[in-house]
Amino acid sequence: MRQFEAVVIGAGPGGYEAAIELGRAGIKTLLIEKTKEHIGGTCLNEGCIPTKNYLQSADYASKAAYFSDCGLAFEFKGLDIGKLAEKTNHLKNELRSGVVWLLESAGVEMMYGTATFIDAHTIDVSGERIGFEKAIIATGAQVREVSTLPLDGKYIISSREVFGLRTLPKSIAIIGGGAIGCEFATFFNAFGVEVTLIARGSQLLSGEDDDVAKTLLRGFKKSNIRVLTSASVQKAEVNKEGVELFIQGETQERIQCELVLSAIGRDPYTEGLNLENAGVQRNAKGFIEVNGAFQTTQKHIYAVGDCIDTPAFAHTAYVEARIAAHNLMSGSADTNTHINPSTIFSNPQIASCGVREKEAKEQGRAIEIKKAFFKVNAKAKIKGDDSGFAKIIICSESNMILGAAIIGVEATEIIHEMVVAVEKKLTAKELIGMIHVHPSVSEIVRYL
Ligand SMILES: Cc1cc2nc3c(=O)[nH]c(=O)nc-3n(C[C@H](O)[C@H](O)[C@H](O)COP(=O)(O)OP(=O)(O)OC[C@H]3O[C@@H](n4cnc5c(N)ncnc54)[C@H](O)[C@@H]3O)c2cc1C
Repeated sequence: MRQFEAVVIGAGPGGYEAAIELGRAGIKTLLIEKTKEHIGGTCLNEGCIPTKNYLQSADYASKAAYFSDCGLAFEFKGLDIGKLAEKTNHLKNELRSGVVWLLESAGVEMMYGTATFIDAHTIDVSGERIGFEKAIIATGAQVREVSTLPLDGKYIISSREVFGLRTLPKSIAIIGGGAIGCEFATFFNAFGVEVTLIARGSQLLSGEDDDVAKTLLRGFKKSNIRVLTSASVQKAEVNKEGVELFIQGETQERIQCELVLSAIGRDPYTEGLNLENAGVQRNAKGFIEVNGAFQTTQKHIYAVGDCIDTPAFAHTAYVEARIAAHNLMSGSADTNTHINPSTIFSNPQIASCGVREKEAKEQGRAIEIKKAFFKVNAKAKIKGDDSGFAKIIICSESNMILGAAIIGVEATEIIHEMVVAVEKKLTAKELIGMIHVHPSVSEIVRYL
């Protein structure tokens, strides 16, 4: 039986990052992934990377009118989604090769198949038994499915199948007002697809502040995206023209559309692992239970990323992986003390970090809000979109910045400055006083 100091299960951002850290430190490491083609996990194959590549094209398309106002004589003839899918596949292959190169350079061994625990120090991969001293589980999450909206991969699809579309539908109903739903609403709308977005909550993006959600809703309405909030799908019937949805909202309504995209959430994925054989427990929601140091109920087995109950972002998985790998090697119990930004690549983009305004108010904290609108920002205007705002949430006593939210152009880029401000406990005066390049979108901070 082959023996490793560490095995890592799952080669998404959590798994490959952990394996690279361990390999670079000279630990004899085995990384197991279901198939070679799935190296990079959800993020690279059907999540962050393909969605952002699709949204980049949507962004170019949405600027067509502005370019034309600037005298650029382009003729926008629409989207060949098959070509975009092809280009995205090239990009994925390139990035996957990069990940494989990093793993090989770090001396990590790779193996393909489904890892199943035999006991707390042995796994089975495609019939081969492997012994390990320590392990990191990074098996990610899977699409959530509900009985009222059964996925058929053709008329009622999940985000994964969007990348297999070779023609654009005329109309689409997107179920789910979270990040994935809002991002795909942006994508399809940019190419003239009639979009209806159906959200169960009373606002889009339930985790974000009201003013952010309202600004997004205004932006969506301006782009002719129809948004139904406090509404849920009771039933879906496939017919000759596509799908008929029976919606219960303020009133009952039927919606006929060519395609339905279910984006109602994702659940932790631990199928096939046989965690009970290793004595690793899950919580009531199915997430692998971990302590602050990412140790499971078996102290020598760690878990990171979407399979544990922390924010489901690739950047969160990366930082958890680095901390877990460090703890595994050193025996220390470091925790994740970093500020975790939240991002939505919709149009307009949204990013936030630290304490939300509504959270601070619920906690009864004495806070001050400083807000600046992109209308005063020259670079936002130059880029053709001066909608939205940036705000910081400040502690009234210490003047320290507790949190920030941005909705508008480049929000997902300029949030990093806010992350530094919150993490390093800067005061509003310190942040605003820093020199910001002119003209730049980041300069919005000057007006706070
Ligand atoms: C449409 C979409 C868009 C997204 N956009 C963003 C974004 O813009 N930014 C962002 O930060 N996050 C985004 N995410 C979330 C991001 O993809 C995840 O947070 C991230 O991939 C989690 O990484 P992970 O390593 O925990 O899991 P995953 O990336 O899911 O990787 C888990 C891997 O484990 C493998 N595996 C599972 N079980 C076994 C087993 N028993 N044996 C062997 N291998 C196994 C799986 O095949 C998979 O490759 C998006 C997600 C989706 C679905």
